[in-house]
Amino acid sequence: MQNLAEQISNQLGEDRVLSGEAVSERATSYWNSEAMTAKAILLPRSTEEVSMMLRLCHAANQTVVTQGGLTGCVMGAEPASDDIVISLEKMNRIEEIDAVNGIAVVEAGTVLQQVQESVLDEELFFPLDLGARGSCTIGGNVATNAGGINVLRYGMMRNLVLGLEAVLVDGTVISSMNQMLKNNAGYDIKQLFIGTEGTLGIITRVVLRLFHKPASRQDALVAMQDFDGVVGFLAHVQKDLGGALSAFEIMWGDYFKAVTEPGGHRAPMDREYPFYVVLQAEGGDPDSDADRFESVLGDALEKELIVDAVLPKSDTESLAIWEIREDFENILQPEPVYLYDISLPIRHMPAYVDDVARNVFEHWPSGDLFTIGHVADGNLHFFVRPNEPGDLHGVSDECVYAPLASYSGSVSAEHGIGIEKIKWLSHSRNRAEIELMRSMKKSLDPRNLLNPGRVLGAG
Ligand SMILES: Cc1cc2nc3c(=O)[nH]c(=O)nc-3n(C[C@H](O)[C@H](O)[C@H](O)COP(=O)(O)OP(=O)(O)OC[C@H]3O[C@@H](n4cnc5c(N)ncnc54)[C@H](O)[C@@H]3O)c2cc1C
Repeated sequence: MQNLAEQISNQLGEDRVLSGEAVSERATSYWNSEAMTAKAILLPRSTEEVSMMLRLCHAANQTVVTQGGLTGCVMGAEPASDDIVISLEKMNRIEEIDAVNGIAVVEAGTVLQQVQESVLDEELFFPLDLGARGSCTIGGNVATNAGGINVLRYGMMRNLVLGLEAVLVDGTVISSMNQMLKNNAGYDIKQLFIGTEGTLGIITRVVLRLFHKPASRQDALVAMQDFDGVVGFLAHVQKDLGGALSAFEIMWGDYFKAVTEPGGHRAPMDREYPFYVVLQAEGGDPDSDADRFESVLGDALEKELIVDAVLPKSDTESLAIWEIREDFENILQPEPVYLYDISLPIRHMPAYVDDVARNVFEHWPSGDLFTIGHVADGNLHFFVRPNEPGDLHGVSDECVYAPLASYSGSVSAEHGIGIEKIKWLSHSRNRAEIELMRSMKKSLDPRNLLNPGRVLGAG
């Protein structure tokens, strides 16, 4: 009897299936360089092909893991050796950009940066933006409800999706390609697939909401002596920039210093400040916007909310300050390094970070704790680097999550639960919420074949 991969290869063509070395020569994910293990990788070219593949897998009781750009941070797209992978990488067409209605229709495997650049050519703007823009896909962004650096002005991915098409585990196609901002005709079906990490269906096409390209953009890197300065400066720019603020990204001094070590990024200001913020404003009038931005920063210096500021004079200089925040490659060694994605009320951040630091250094006196975040969204990322070999993930998790409960925070602000955080879901969701999630999963995928075990575990 033919196996599934052979059946699909015979029906759709050999180029739809990778097996053997073609699987193992791929890395498991951005974060895991080990060879990928899976029975096969399927490469559909259309929704109909995804449907056909899922129908066959369903009939054979075959588990399926969906992959986009493999940049997800919680192992959600990492297959086990007996899974079949469906990768959306060949479904990467931008079908339509409609400036009048402010929408783009794209296939789910389209890379985020490709969407950003294509709509810019039409003087339009797609505001989702994150460090993985060159690799992550729209389908992955929807499945994880990605956040990133522009959430404070434009919301998370959920706010940028008008409609979508998805395929259920048995191959049923749910086409809900709404293009309107308003549509309250019954349940909003797309929400079933946004942020549910591929556990309820495979997203194949998406209608995105676009905005007009801002006429001006200003960036700055500033430094503060204490966290009160960060909070005071945030309030100052939110008020005085009149709603133009689009990004406000914090770096604790330990992070800034580490990524600007020799061999890393060039530091455009003193490396010894305790806090740094990269901020961005967007507006409609390039001349007056730049003057206003400078004067708001000048006021903040006078009021001593900030102690230093660098305003880039070119796109290259802008990029250089953003790279300090977004490119953390040189702190990822020596392994292991554990990444966290916490949200909590801003006022609790300093106390919580102190609690985590105390725990980390108690366990690993020569360890490192690097802290950054989308502070205006109440979102912090930690990199815990014990500087000791071994699997220390469980201990590290305790250091970070144990103090969180007393601040009513969440174990996942934007990365999701995947496999990595299943154990911690109940720290952020109550029993009734988890039971409802289980019953939704049971009703749509009773045999737990689609992204099995993600979010809710095996049971
Ligand atoms: C340098 C770097 C910076 C990052 N910064 C941010 C950030 O600021 N904010 C943020 O939110 N995240 C960030 N991330 C995490 C990551 O980029 C996002 O989670 C992204 O949305 C994942 O997209 P992907 O295409 O890589 O998905 P994958 O990693 O391939 O998959 C992620 C999950 O989505 C599922 N999935 C993928 N495609 C589909 C589909 N078509 N249908 C159904 N399910 C699907 C997978 O099964 C998996 O569970 C960052 C990652 C890196 C490496």
